[in-house]
Amino acid sequence: MKITAIETFQLEWQEPGQGVRSAFIRVQGEDGLFGLGEVSPMQGGLASLTVIANDMISDLVGHHVLDHAVLLDRLLHKCIKLGPEGVVTGAIAGLDIALWDLKGKLLGLPVYKLLGGAWQDRLPCYASMGGGAAKSAEWLVEHAVRRIKSERPAALKLRRDGDRTRQDLDIAGDIAKARAVREAVGDDFPLAFDANNGYSFGAAIRVGRALEELGYIWFEEPLQHYNVAATGELARRLDITVSAGEQTYTLQGVKDLIEAGVRMVQPDIIKMGGITGLMQCQAIAAAHGVELVPHQTQPSIGHMANVHMLSTIMLRSKPIELCDGWERADSVFRNPSRPVDGHFILPTAPGLGLEFDAAEMARRSIPVRAQ
Ligand code: CA
Repeated sequence: MKITAIETFQLEWQEPGQGVRSAFIRVQGEDGLFGLGEVSPMQGGLASLTVIANDMISDLVGHHVLDHAVLLDRLLHKCIKLGPEGVVTGAIAGLDIALWDLKGKLLGLPVYKLLGGAWQDRLPCYASMGGGAAKSAEWLVEHAVRRIKSERPAALKLRRDGDRTRQDLDIAGDIAKARAVREAVGDDFPLAFDANNGYSFGAAIRVGRALEELGYIWFEEPLQHYNVAATGELARRLDITVSAGEQTYTLQGVKDLIEAGVRMVQPDIIKMGGITGLMQCQAIAAAHGVELVPHQTQPSIGHMANVHMLSTIMLRSKPIELCDGWERADSVFRNPSRPVDGHFILPTAPGLGLEFDAAEMARRSIPVRAQ
C-alpha cells in the first residue's frame, strides 16, 4: 500500500479560541485507510508540524507504507541539522505512530501484535497531579484523596511545576506538602514526586532524603535535564530512585543518562522516535537493568501508542501516567481516554484501535500547511 497524502493539523479541545491544542498527523493510504499520529504539543506543536509539511511529506507520498523504517531514517538524516533534538524528533515520532496505525489497519491487526504480542491487556495507571508549587498542602491533600477515590490508580505523583527560571524557591514547603500527602493517603500507598527541574544539587539531596524517609518510590527530574552528569551523581548518592529522560530526544541521550547513573528513564513516545523509538529505548533499558517508565501526558493518540508499546514489555515496574485534564479527549475520542477501575484497556481493533467522532474531529481541526 502506498502513502497517498499526509495532513498536519492542530486539534482544539475546548471551544474555538479557548485554549489547549494537540498536534496531529493523518497519513492517508490507498483504499481509504489512514493512520493517526501525534507530535509533542509544546507551543502548539507548530514547529514539528511545519517541518513535516515543509520538508517531509514530499519524501513520503508515493512510497510503500511497509518501507516505514527506511523512510523515517532517511528523513531524520535529511533534517538532522534542524535539531536533531525536539522539533525533528517530535516530527519523526508523530509520523512513526501514524505509520504503525496504518500498518496495523493494512494487516488487520492491532499494533501490539505487530510488536510481538501483549503481556497484559489491562494496564494499571498512576494519577499525575500538577501545579504543586502554587497550591497549598490542604489543596494537594484534598485533590490527591479525591483522585485516588475516583480513579483508583495504583500510585500518585505530585508534580511541583512552577517557575522554570528559578530554583530552590520553597524547599521546606515542598517537603511539608510531600509529608501532608503521605499522611493523608497512609504509609502503604505508592507516591512519587516530580521536581520538574526545580532544584540545585544540594537542595535535591535534602528533598530526596526527605522523600526517602516518607517512603516515596521515585524522585523525578530533580535537576535541569541538561545536567546529565550531575543527575547521574545524584541518582548514585540517593537511595530513592531518581528518574529523568522526558526531555531526552535521542537513543544516544538515553544511553548517556544510563551511563551517568540514572536507573529509571522516561522518554516520551511523541517526543522521540514514536513506537519504534520507545521499543529501542526498552531494549537499551532492559540490557542495562534500568526501568523504562515513559513520560506521557497526552490523552488520545500518544497515549494509545504508549499503551500498545508498554503492553509488550514483560517486566514492567511502574503504572502508566494518567495526567490531569485527561477528560478533554472525550469530546472527540471514544477510547481509551478514561481508565476503567484504575486500568487502561488495551484495544484489539486493527492499528492503534482508536475510536473517534469524525465530525467532531473535523470541526475542531485547524490545518497546518507548508510555509
Ligand atoms: Ca515530569
